[in-house]
Amino acid sequence: METVTCPYCENNTKINPIDREHYDGEEEYECEHCGKCFEVLAETYTRYSACDKADCLNGGNHKWKQVVGYPEIHFKGRYRCEDCSTEYCSTEYTLQEEVVTEDELSKN
Ligand SMILES: [Zn+2]
Ligand SMILES: [Zn+2]
Repeated sequence: METVTCPYCENNTKINPIDREHYDGEEEYECEHCGKCFEVLAETYTRYSACDKADCLNGGNHKWKQVVGYPEIHFKGRYRCEDCSTEYCSTEYTLQEEVVTEDELSKN
């Protein structure tokens, strides 16, 4: 058992460490005191810290932020929530990309 400080009520909350060696990632936990959900970042398999408040895990909206990188075309239309690790690709853009591919094929 490990404990993290809840970002909502600041009480120590018990969590079950993931049974995986050198696990590096984020897991969702529900605070035993206030019942709010938040993500816990596992920096190593023995050290845990709560990322931040995640209102989207408690019935709120995701805070979508465009993913940026190079080449730009691979990241266009990709969004990632600032609070949780959910990602989505804009379907509008995916359709556009398919049209371009078909057009290029017909040229060859
Ligand atoms: Zn709490
Ligand atoms: Zn979210």
